[in-house]
Amino acid sequence: MAEHGHPPKHHYDASMLSVEEALERILSYMPELDAEEKPILDAMGQVLADDVVSDLDIPPLDNSAMDGYALQATSVETASEGSPVVLRVTGVIAAGQLPEISVGPGEAVRIMTGAPVPEGADTVVPFEETDELERRASGQGLSEIAIKVAAKTGRDVRVAGQDVRRGEVVLKRGAVLRPSEVGVIASLGRNTVRVIRKPVVGILSTGDELLEPGENFGTGGIYDSNSYSVAALVRRYGGIPHMLGIARDNLDSVNAKLREGLESDILITSAGVSKGDYDMVKDVLTQHGEIDFWSVRMKPAKPLAFGVLTAPDGRKVPHLGLPGNPVSAMVAFEQFGRAAIYKMLGKAGIEKPQVRAILDEPIHNTDGRRVFARAVVTKRDGEYRARLTGEQGSNLLTSMARANGLAICPEDLSRKEAGEVVDVQMLDWPEEVF
Ligand code: AMP
Ligand code: MG
Repeated sequence: MAEHGHPPKHHYDASMLSVEEALERILSYMPELDAEEKPILDAMGQVLADDVVSDLDIPPLDNSAMDGYALQATSVETASEGSPVVLRVTGVIAAGQLPEISVGPGEAVRIMTGAPVPEGADTVVPFEETDELERRASGQGLSEIAIKVAAKTGRDVRVAGQDVRRGEVVLKRGAVLRPSEVGVIASLGRNTVRVIRKPVVGILSTGDELLEPGENFGTGGIYDSNSYSVAALVRRYGGIPHMLGIARDNLDSVNAKLREGLESDILITSAGVSKGDYDMVKDVLTQHGEIDFWSVRMKPAKPLAFGVLTAPDGRKVPHLGLPGNPVSAMVAFEQFGRAAIYKMLGKAGIEKPQVRAILDEPIHNTDGRRVFARAVVTKRDGEYRARLTGEQGSNLLTSMARANGLAICPEDLSRKEAGEVVDVQMLDWPEEVF
């Protein structure tokens, strides 16, 4: 129970599932998908299917960390700014060259960053601590060089295997590929990697009133926004949206779309799940598998359907039925669809990132559900502040476009007051790397 806030006006309905209960049931049907081998750059955001073991030392050879001179530390033990030690320069090594010379006492080899340190040398002195600049300015050659510092053994030498040892597990199975992992794999000399494949998500909108964006407007119709907002979310969270278009509220229409929908890893429909709806969707889906219609203790998005359909080849395809109202569809997707995709992708951390913010205005909770209020979070004087986006009707999609987070009023509070601390689920947190 929170410290602040008011006791519940209404006790909540025990027949409704909590968000956590619904999520747990949904996730229990989500398999981790099989692996695919793909180019490393295309695997960004996906999860490693195997440990990555190096068959190289990196760096492969001892090499110079600076542009300078490779030499033996014992040759310059007495060197200082006031009394430099002059060494004979016996050659030059650039990065990518293998040194053919070795360095003896009283000798130095001019060396570039990344070039292998020649045999005999045990330290590198950067140009800045030699008289190279003066020599160049006065037109003297570089057959000799004055060293102005008593360099210690190992200075500016990068030792072979310092970054990665041959045989070492460099990245573990289950790691998400971010730019640094992509770079590490490339550093091992590989251009492909095995990752858990992305789920293909069938997306189907249902309703007699729906028009395809791009079609001419017809009175009585509304444009199908759910297919697009949900597909965009699927893509953001690492799935591959497969657009199935619009099914009408009749058996044949839904059936025709379902055949294609059952080729995906998960089918997501919108609308046709609320009570008293004139929809065939429920009936059709029930025919093709086991579907539960749930009330989830949340607002928006109370009605939700979930089940498992059976494809003609016997394959089981999970089905998530989102509510029709555009905000409800998005908020329900953020709670359940996102987590389902993450589980199939093999991602471990599936909770949405949250911040704690101070509310600028109250959130009302009239019937004991968990309220996800569209909010704008900003940082002021080092603290997060949350204000609401105005009217909270679940049909008002532009209010979702104005929000960057969902401020949560728990189900056991009838309101959160202005000035109270609230948890805000961030919609735009940079958690995703796709
Ligand atoms: P329903 O669940 O079918 O009763 O739909 C609830 C509300 O959401 C109705 O006002 C629908 O017109 C609307 N709606 C349903 N599907 C979509 C969609 N794909 N895009 C936009 N609005 C929708
Ligand atoms: Mg409908």
